[in-house]
Order: sequence, then structure tokens, then C-alpha cells
Amino acid sequence: MIPMDFRDKVAMIAGVANKRSIAWSIAQKLDEAGARIVLTHLDDERITKNIEKLASELNDPLLVPCDVTDDEQLQTAYQTVDEQFGKLDALVHSVAFAPREEFDHRFVETTREGFRTALEVSAYSLLPMARHAEPLMEKAGGGSVVAMTYLAAVRATPTYNVMGTAKAALEQIIRQLAYELGPQAIRVNGISAGPVSTLSARGIPGFTDFLKQYEERAALKRNITPEEVGQTGVFLLSELASGITGEILYVDAGYNMMAF
Ligand code: NAD
Repeated sequence: MIPMDFRDKVAMIAGVANKRSIAWSIAQKLDEAGARIVLTHLDDERITKNIEKLASELNDPLLVPCDVTDDEQLQTAYQTVDEQFGKLDALVHSVAFAPREEFDHRFVETTREGFRTALEVSAYSLLPMARHAEPLMEKAGGGSVVAMTYLAAVRATPTYNVMGTAKAALEQIIRQLAYELGPQAIRVNGISAGPVSTLSARGIPGFTDFLKQYEERAALKRNITPEEVGQTGVFLLSELASGITGEILYVDAGYNMMAF
């Protein structure tokens, strides 16, 4: 078997909003590797239009609306995959949201509702996705799940506020799921990416300063590209990473390991 060959593999990807989305870079790389791509997306007019346009660049993708806070939509999305393909090999969680106001005040002012929304969309959502994926991955003889996280999970990060809390929860969910789904040959890992200029990232106050800091301080003295995250996604989802689970892999040009 050629480990990076995804022909006959089905990959479901949540989180493409436009061509800048990290999920789109992963989708493109998986498509190049031969996977059948299922893109799940918010049922929003602009996003749907963007995705329909982008999808024309992929080889026969399936588009399925799925708001990760809606149990019915989640159920229908995975049922559709079951009906169409009868299995699932790879799953990508690249979804996050916190109300804008939560970035505009001090972290100590985080509202109950803002906390609930951020944690539900950005962290809890991996649980129902994994739950629905499990039987489909068992039908595939095993599978691999990758979720997108950020350094603010483990470091105090100015302005990132409650999204750091959500990423901390997400990283623990990754480890707990890796433990629980391991016996079914399902691997679960996270990619902790350096800053990439996307729709969500640009909503974080001072985001351009993050980019500057990385360029100055990262070992490679530059920012990462979305393609680099896409490549690492394909690696973790592939058989090349068959011995890796419950890990957070940093794709940050060597930023997190620096002391200064
Ligand atoms: P993005 O805005 O392109 O992607 C976020 C996606 O989440 C969008 O597609 C949006 O539609 C989706 N989403 C939000 N609420 C949803 C819901 N209720 N149901 C379904 N989908 C929903 O931005 P991105 O930067 O590509 O973010 C993708 C992931 O990467 C996020 O988890 C983000 O935290 C993480 N990440 C981003 C960076 C960065 O600098 N861009 C760095 C590290 C990690």
C-alpha cells in the first residue's frame, strides 16, 4: 500500500467558508491524494455560494450543510455519508466561533453566553462528530481524525480570551477521544497552526501583530503557509502517521518551542 494514497478513501471536512480557510487547504491536498471529499458547511447563503464555486476545483465532492450546534443536521450529514459511501476514513474538524464582543473586553469579563457558545462550537462539536464518525470508520476498518487548535490552549495569549479556553478544552477532548477510540483503530490528533490570515483570524484584535511576532521570533523567521497545514493534515490522516494518536503537532515554523 502507498501510505499517502487516498484513492478509495472518504474524507469529511468541516470548516470551509472560503478559499482562505485552513480546511480548504486540507481539502485540496486530500483531493490531490485521491480522496473522495465531503465538505460540510454552515447553511449560510454566502458560504454556500463560496463552497459551490470552490467545489468545482475538486474531483466530484459531496457538499452537505451542517451546523455543528444542530444535532439533526449532524445526524443527517453522517447519514448521507453512510448512504453514499457506506464508510468514512478521515475526518477534519476546522471549526471555531466566539461572539465578537468576547474579543473586545478583558478575559475576566467573559460572559456566560459567550463562554457557552465558544466552547460549544469550537470544542464540544468534536464529540458528536466523532460519535457519528465512529461506526462509519469501523466500517472502513479504522480511521483518522484531525482537529485544528492554537497555542493559546497552553499559553496566556493577549486578546485571544475565551477562544484559548475553548482550544484547551479541544486539546483535552483530542486526548480523551484518542484513548477511547484507539481500540477501534481510530486515531485522533490536533494540528496547532501558527497564524494564518483567514476570516476568523482577522476577527481577533491585534491579529496582524501575531503575524509580525511569529516572523521575528519563530526559528524559521517566517510565517507558515496554509499549504503547510494542508500537507500536515494529509500526513496525520494517512498511514504514514499510523503510530501517532492523541498528539498535538505544531505547524508554526518553530515558534512555540522558543523561550524568547
Ligand atoms: P475560517 O473562518 O475560514 O474557518 C472557521 C470555520 O468555522 C468557518 O468555515 C465557519 O463557517 C465554521 N463555523 C463556525 N461556526 C460553525 C457552526 N456552528 N457549524 C459549522 N461550522 C461553523 O478560519 P480558519 O482560520 O480556517 O479556522 C479553522 C480552524 O483553524 C479553527 O478551529 C481555528 O481556531 C483554527 N486555527 C486557525 C488559525 C489561524 O491563524 N487562522 C491558527 C490556529 C488554529
